[in-house]
Amino acid sequence: LVIALEQLSGEEIRLTADQYRYLHRVLRLQTGDRFFAIIAGQWWLSELDGGQRAIRLEQIPIQTELPVSVTLIAALPKHGFDEVVRCCTELGVMKIVPVMSDRTLLKPSAQKVQRWRRIATEAAEQSERQTVPSIDEPLSFTQILHSEDYSSSSAYLCVARGQLPHLLAYELPPAGASMFVATGPEGGWTEKEIAGAIQVGFQPVSLGQRILRAVTAPIVVLSLIGGDCDR
Ligand code: SAM
Repeated sequence: LVIALEQLSGEEIRLTADQYRYLHRVLRLQTGDRFFAIIAGQWWLSELDGGQRAIRLEQIPIQTELPVSVTLIAALPKHGFDEVVRCCTELGVMKIVPVMSDRTLLKPSAQKVQRWRRIATEAAEQSERQTVPSIDEPLSFTQILHSEDYSSSSAYLCVARGQLPHLLAYELPPAGASMFVATGPEGGWTEKEIAGAIQVGFQPVSLGQRILRAVTAPIVVLSLIGGDCDR
């Protein structure tokens, strides 16, 4: 069992009302029963101690996060972004930046962003991650290109045209480093967006010979990076 806990005082853990209900009513655990908890990103063997209290007993050296911190910059497709958030969270993404690109048709509502954050939380719990990825408010691609210094990190722009080096032709950055990967909308990136991204330090890359849907491409990006890290 894994349950993500936040509040701490010494060895004592305070359960939220939802966590209390889940452990006591759903799983029927009792005082003295043990469970695994993720506390501030670390796994702990923990014990229920009556009421909404528990005690953390022993830290367990389990690492479920990717060694590199991957930010996915994904142009919003017409449908299917829920699936992008769910699958990329399962695959280890650290941050998702939804993009209003030149060819994006819809502007998502504030409720949509809340919904994606809930989906990311559920997916992180189900895949036993130590961290819930953050989901930014949607930004225009131009805003995103000027929000970071991409020239000093690994930044890749997936482009479904031309003979480009494959994403995996580049070495992954070392453990602890960040990387940025951008995927386009159904109609692809405009020439202006591609030129703007290259200018601020993105490398244009291929994901293979087949054209992937805008919803499939981000999932493939995370699978390729995760596969490379885990092998
Ligand atoms: N006709 C569009 C074009 O010319 O770009 C196809 C867009 S594709 C459906 C949606 C996005 O997925 C692309 O903008 C790109 O980011 C990514 N993508 C899909 N297949 C790809 C591939 N084989 N290599 C690199 N990126 C790909």
